[in-house]
Amino acid sequence: MKKQASSIPMLRPKLPMLNEYDHYIKQIDESRVYTNYGPLSRAFAQELSLKIGARTNAPNLQVALTSSGTTAIEVALRGRVEATSGLCLMPSYTFVASAHAVVNAGFRPVFLDVNSESYALDPDTVRRSLSSFTEHVAAVLVVSAFGAPVDIASWEQFEYETGVPVIFDAAAAIASLDYIGNQPVCVSMHATKVLGIGEGGAVFSRNSDLIDRLAAITGFGFYGAERRSDILGGNYRISEYNAAVGLAALRGLEQKIARLKNRIEYYKSVSENPHIFQKDVGDRWVTMTLNIAPCSTIAKSIVAALDERAVPWRHWWGLGCHTHPAFERFSRHGTLENTTNLARRVIGLPFFEDIEDWQIEEVADAIRPLLV
Ligand SMILES: *Cc1c(COP(=O)(O)O)cnc(C)c1O
Repeated sequence: MKKQASSIPMLRPKLPMLNEYDHYIKQIDESRVYTNYGPLSRAFAQELSLKIGARTNAPNLQVALTSSGTTAIEVALRGRVEATSGLCLMPSYTFVASAHAVVNAGFRPVFLDVNSESYALDPDTVRRSLSSFTEHVAAVLVVSAFGAPVDIASWEQFEYETGVPVIFDAAAAIASLDYIGNQPVCVSMHATKVLGIGEGGAVFSRNSDLIDRLAAITGFGFYGAERRSDILGGNYRISEYNAAVGLAALRGLEQKIARLKNRIEYYKSVSENPHIFQKDVGDRWVTMTLNIAPCSTIAKSIVAALDERAVPWRHWWGLGCHTHPAFERFSRHGTLENTTNLARRVIGLPFFEDIEDWQIEEVADAIRPLLV
């Protein structure tokens, strides 16, 4: 019997199962340490920095764990940027969490347009825009487009030339990072991200002083055991229960990446036009979502065809941060033409690590006639 397309889920997260982390939970029961940088959080931070350090060729990579990807960005901005107010340049084309983080950290976002190829900010364009701001530009928040690799080295050059600190929202890019320097790289460990632990985040950098400061910010500005606030902070920690899931998730990370890659390859093999997918996805990088970017007219027909067969799809990032009521009052730079264009063209397809062949075929069948 043929299954109905409407039974294709959009995204199905899969976190470690109880039997993969129950021994850690028993340790919590025995130690009666539930949070506050306990043994499991320390072990998770250690293993996470080794794992991502190995993937990025940075043997001494440091990490600060945070309560979410959003708070990772907040903490990184607060710890990295000396100014406590001013403008933070950022793309409008991102998940709206990036903009919340900027405002929560005390900065005023300015929404910039992205490059139409990379869907991300372009360092040369941002450098040229700097002279047009009359207020102090405190920072630039560079966002990885749906988890795509970011050219971190070109932003190191940008910071070297302009003196403007750069922070990376690489929330969905933990499996795409191939280089990390001193500039903080923030990732999310939300259930829907590749290294999902439920809720959690992390900031990576080679700069251990910076990471110590960020870790202090996550716990009321206390350095070490002294209960003295040396700097302003808050409670942005993860609990030992999240760390337990994290330790188990790390063990399965490489396999999960391989499964996601395999599913993208299958999608490409049954689609008429593999070039319609986001650049290099599946070849050089993977994440938990999968986007196609047809031209605007075809995009409309594709959405209609998917709707007709009750196949779910998403504009994962909506129409850009500047279109959300909460952010309407913040300024924009330029026309945001690429943002508007991409927001309509980029379509998220049903995708997850165990999406079945027949489900992928159903999606491909719906859109194939429009791609020839
Ligand atoms: C997921 C995501 C975030 C937010 O991470 P949370 O862990 O959900 O707070 C921020 N920015 C981008 C680009 C994301 O994809």
